[in-house]
Amino acid sequence: MYNFNYHRAGSVEEAVQLLSGASEGTLMGGGMTLIPVLKQRLANPSDVVDIGGISALSGVSEDGGKVVVGATTTHAAVASDATVQAKIPALAVLAESIGDAQVRNRGTIGGSIANNDPAADYPAALVGLGATIRTNTREIAADDFFTGLFETALGDNEIITAVAFPVPDKAGYAKFPNPASRYAVVGVMASQGPAGTRVAVTGAGPCVFRAADMEAALSSNFSAEALSGISVSADDLNSDIHASAEYRAHLVGVMARRAVAAAG
Ligand SMILES: Cc1cc2nc3c(=O)[nH]c(=O)nc-3n(C[C@H](O)[C@H](O)[C@H](O)COP(=O)(O)OP(=O)(O)OC[C@H]3O[C@@H](n4cnc5c(N)ncnc54)[C@H](O)[C@@H]3O)c2cc1C
Repeated sequence: MYNFNYHRAGSVEEAVQLLSGASEGTLMGGGMTLIPVLKQRLANPSDVVDIGGISALSGVSEDGGKVVVGATTTHAAVASDATVQAKIPALAVLAESIGDAQVRNRGTIGGSIANNDPAADYPAALVGLGATIRTNTREIAADDFFTGLFETALGDNEIITAVAFPVPDKAGYAKFPNPASRYAVVGVMASQGPAGTRVAVTGAGPCVFRAADMEAALSSNFSAEALSGISVSADDLNSDIHASAEYRAHLVGVMARRAVAAAG
């Protein structure tokens, strides 16, 4: 690990000031991704701004019929939250499936989506449920937020403050986890509700994507049977030591049918 200045911000405004004043500043949520990156000397920030202590960024609330999850809310807190369990149980299931207990108790929704790992679970939740990302300067639709491999629409020094989820009529999440890390080899969130009919796939490609053919089939008949015979192309899917592109393409179909069945 290289040396850096550590700051614990007391507010979003202070965090922005600290980032603006640093030659190369970076935010820290739960540190579950950032700390290993620093330990391996893959990044060399001048300043790390810890936002984990900003109470206004943590917790779940309801706002205008949406479930709003603060950026520093941990995966464990999302999984066990009574509002999430009642309104969007698929989101609680997804959060509970992330990593291990240590990761779930430190990792945050804001850090996960800012990092946009291709195998992360939350991108499927945000796109699959039609969520909106709130930052210190604007609101960004999930469809526009995840722009590529580890890339997002966030600008310099922009801080995610919360994620607002519309409450779906039906939603289900299914994933084929890497048996060691629990990251998604393939994960699918399927939903129907105010955000339309959505099928979002994580783990399979370089970035979360929607499966248009599946969405079209489900929009008239939201059942696992409606998906039989619909496949996704292996072109452009990830191929690595965990799974070939062809196997991932097969898993997308299986996980999508399971997600729809789980939605009930
Ligand atoms: C062993 C292990 C297993 C894991 N398994 C899974 C899994 O199964 N599924 C899964 O989805 N994830 C998994 N993860 C990743 C985990 O979910 C992390 O919580 C997540 O990737 C990063 O969240 P964090 O809060 O720790 O972010 P940090 O590590 O603190 O930050 C990550 C990045 O996000 C930026 N950032 C943080 N907060 C904000 C914010 N509010 N606004 C803007 N930028 C911000 C930081 O600057 C940094 O670039 C695993 C991690 C580990 C170590």
